[in-house]
Amino acid sequence: MKLQQLIISEIEQTGPMPVDRYMELCLAHPQHGYYMKQDPFGQAGDFVTAPEISQIFGEMIGIWAITQWQKLGAPENCALVEAGPGRGTLMADILRAIKVVPSFKPEIHLVEISPVLKRKQKEKLGDGISWHNKIPELDKPSIFIANEFFDALPIKQFIGKTERKIVAENGRLAFNLAVEDGLVKETCPIALELMKQISHNYAAGIIIDYGYIENRKIDTLQALRGHNYTSPLENPGDCDLTAHVDFGGLASISEKKCQITTQREFLLAHGADVRAKILNKENDLDRLISKNQMGELFKVLCF
Ligand code: SAH
Repeated sequence: MKLQQLIISEIEQTGPMPVDRYMELCLAHPQHGYYMKQDPFGQAGDFVTAPEISQIFGEMIGIWAITQWQKLGAPENCALVEAGPGRGTLMADILRAIKVVPSFKPEIHLVEISPVLKRKQKEKLGDGISWHNKIPELDKPSIFIANEFFDALPIKQFIGKTERKIVAENGRLAFNLAVEDGLVKETCPIALELMKQISHNYAAGIIIDYGYIENRKIDTLQALRGHNYTSPLENPGDCDLTAHVDFGGLASISEKKCQITTQREFLLAHGADVRAKILNKENDLDRLISKNQMGELFKVLCF
């Protein structure tokens, strides 16, 4: 049975479906979920992420990780934990970059639900890595890393006080309420719960994603297929379904003090321009930092 039919039959049995349940089914249904059945990255896929654009991105995060580890007193026994590692490119670039400090030899833990991507990560990163289905609590100083992970966590939407839900009309999916800019409230209960847990258990963390610091009360639910935006209700399970990340909300629930900058500021503060010159890859860096590309829409939260 196609995912759309499964969704319709759940709506028939239990009533209109909240947006978070819809996102969860579209992205993570064991057979039909978007991430469960394919590798969505690259030119041939649906979207391209920063580590897939340039090695400089992961190298700068590697430098950030070295600094955090040194601030912790350079513990021998420590861990790097990455949530949603995609093809493993970011971690591969981080591991290459941190070789400049040979005594920094963290254990590597990856949090991944997709069997397809787990296989790719194994191919790229080799042995000696642990995989988890949930963000682990480890008994050693640990540093948390996530790029474009939080945008995939299911959100709820409210228009005023009424929850926006999905209904079935003549075999098609539709929203019960239209959106109006300035009146849409989005919340991501799972993200807030995870942030509380991560900021409690981890010594340091970095979260990079597209999102906002102040909620502008607009509808940010979006679907991408073949590098184009489509309707979130069409082809469930076959498009990437995401929402902008509420960085202000994450920072306010965090148990540790957070700093939020733009991707542009973060990369330049870590020397990305110098590295780009050495590699002769200034065009690639431009995609990561320019204001009309990823530079300002993408935020970096560190604690
Ligand atoms: N960080 C990578 C990939 C981003 S795509 C990059 O920058 O290229 C999102 C990643 O999160 C994918 O690896 C996807 O399989 C994973 N993912 C999505 N939802 C998840 C969840 N609930 N638990 C664990 N991993 C998840």
